[in-house]
Amino acid sequence: MTRDSRTGAARRGKCPRCGRPVLQQLVGRLAALDVTADDEQLPADRAAALRTVNRLDWCLRTTKAGTELQWADCRRRRTPCPRPHVVDHLCTGPRVPSPVPSRHRPAPVPAGQLTL
Ligand SMILES: [Zn+2]
Repeated sequence: MTRDSRTGAARRGKCPRCGRPVLQQLVGRLAALDVTADDEQLPADRAAALRTVNRLDWCLRTTKAGTELQWADCRRRRTPCPRPHVVDHLCTGPRVPSPVPSRHRPAPVPAGQLTL
């Protein structure tokens, strides 16, 4: 769980691979997205310029619970959003080695029988 279960606000932390400060939160109520964003606040237009298909920008709102990431649907307004924005974290840290594949082989089965 990346949302502070008591307040619903984003948690501040560090990326375990590169050590950069990040914000983590589940954004959305029904189909929540597990977001890890750079903890570097940008004006809305600069964050939108960094937005790609695989890297979203998020609107930071300060509530009484703390800092909360919300969908940046504020960009649809005619006036620029005055709140700070952040973008998804793109990690530049070293890759975590994948686990060594198991040498386990399934037990042979008689001809005609399907393995499950
Ligand atoms: Zn990272």
